[in-house]
Amino acid sequence: MLRCKQVSDALASSKYWDLPLRKRIGLRLHVAFCLVCGPFNRFLMLWQDSTRHYLKHEQEDPPPPDMKLSEDARKRMCETLRKEKS
Ligand SMILES: [Zn+2]
Repeated sequence: MLRCKQVSDALASSKYWDLPLRKRIGLRLHVAFCLVCGPFNRFLMLWQDSTRHYLKHEQEDPPPPDMKLSEDARKRMCETLRKEKS
């Protein structure tokens, strides 16, 4: 059985859908029943799922050029997210 810290570390360090199926099942089971980290990590998994669906949709049906972020804006957002994560 996974511990809360192992689940949180796995979700924080990688996209869980890239993990092996066995590990994903373990994470899902832990998050479904854990009263300590479940609510937060369920939200984190939902966030990662949303991101994955958005990226998939963006590749299949890209937004018009005037709706896309400029490369400069994209870099600034990435830098801000990295600063907040560390
Ligand atoms: Zn937990």
